[in-house]
Amino acid sequence: MIATETRIPLSALRRNTAALADPVLTDRLGRPLRDLRISVTDRCNFRCSYCMPRDKFGREHAFLSHTEILRYEEITRLAKVFAGLGVEKIRLTGGEPLMRKHLDRLVSMLAEIPGLDLTLTTNGALLARHAATLKAAGLRRVTVSLDALDDAVFRRMSDAGCGVNEVLAGIDAAAAAGLGPIKINMVVRRGVNDQEILPLARRFRHSGHILRFIEYMDVGSSNGWRMDDVVPAREILARIAAEHPLEALDRDTPGEVAERWRYADGAGEIGVIASVTQAFCKDCTRLRLSPEGKLFTCLFASQGHDLRALLREERDDAALAGWISSVWRERGDRYSELRGTAQAPTQKIEMSYIGG
Ligand code: SAM
Ligand code: SF4
Ligand code: SF4
Repeated sequence: MIATETRIPLSALRRNTAALADPVLTDRLGRPLRDLRISVTDRCNFRCSYCMPRDKFGREHAFLSHTEILRYEEITRLAKVFAGLGVEKIRLTGGEPLMRKHLDRLVSMLAEIPGLDLTLTTNGALLARHAATLKAAGLRRVTVSLDALDDAVFRRMSDAGCGVNEVLAGIDAAAAAGLGPIKINMVVRRGVNDQEILPLARRFRHSGHILRFIEYMDVGSSNGWRMDDVVPAREILARIAAEHPLEALDRDTPGEVAERWRYADGAGEIGVIASVTQAFCKDCTRLRLSPEGKLFTCLFASQGHDLRALLREERDDAALAGWISSVWRERGDRYSELRGTAQAPTQKIEMSYIGG
């Protein structure tokens, strides 16, 4: 694991506790803190070639131990502190979040925090088994990753024992449980699964689900990313529009990463996440919490801030809030805008550790 940690000195903590009275917590670029992604595990039942390639995440890989990762009580306590600092939305992710035992227990604890929008991103393989329980526990919506409709392409990319039908069953179960509108994320890699763009678009037209195409990103250091592998969002939209004309929609919220489109014939909505070709750092309101309690201010950060140490030193909530505020105020990340320049960091954390 590349991630290292930094600690904010106590003097800074005291200075920033005083600043807590500010109505809106903003970073150095004026961006408010609104979204928190919580990675509940670094383990996964898939080995997607672009995220956890098996040769780098094999049997010898040192995953975090149970005592290292945050307990559900610790995550919930932190979530309450984050909510007090302006976080409105929490997304549970991983690794594969459904690999963590009794995740519904965490969901029910988080669901009690007033005003929080609580969602989950999953590869869908275990979703049919858990959808109804998660809904009953208070989960609002799910996003399911699905990179191909063709079973052979899917199996090649996910390198898992599971096929497309299990994921489709998970999507159906989530819809039946009321976890919609369901978003379906497809990461597009040229020459690997770009031929699946149209089949997936056709499959989910009229379904009520929102299919979103994600430009393949250079996260982590293990996927051998090359710009040539990226299919730009403009090209994806052009391919779909040639068969089914599209009309642009407004973004949901300023911090929303997807550009929204609808089929002109009323067959539903799709989205594109153009993080490589059209960086959206200026609106990035997201903070990430790793399984063992490190805070990352950018998906491409090379360093985390060790919140677990503070938590286990039995600091009170005001101290935690002051420390988190310091981290956010110091934030100046805008990796996607700097990509390819000398200022861009070269050492980055892995996506499977911090979540998408
Ligand atoms: N295991 C869950 C899943 O696959 O949905 C949650 C974690 S996964 C890291 C979150 C999202 O990140 C998935 O939609 C995945 O496709 C996406 N992702 C992973 N590596 C990526 C990359 N290199 N570029 C773009 N998206 C990526
Ligand atoms: Fe696992 Fe999700 Fe990464 Fe695939 S993208 S290896 S399912 S964490
Ligand atoms: Fe946010 Fe970093 Fe992605 Fe820019 S590169 S949008 S700052 S996570």
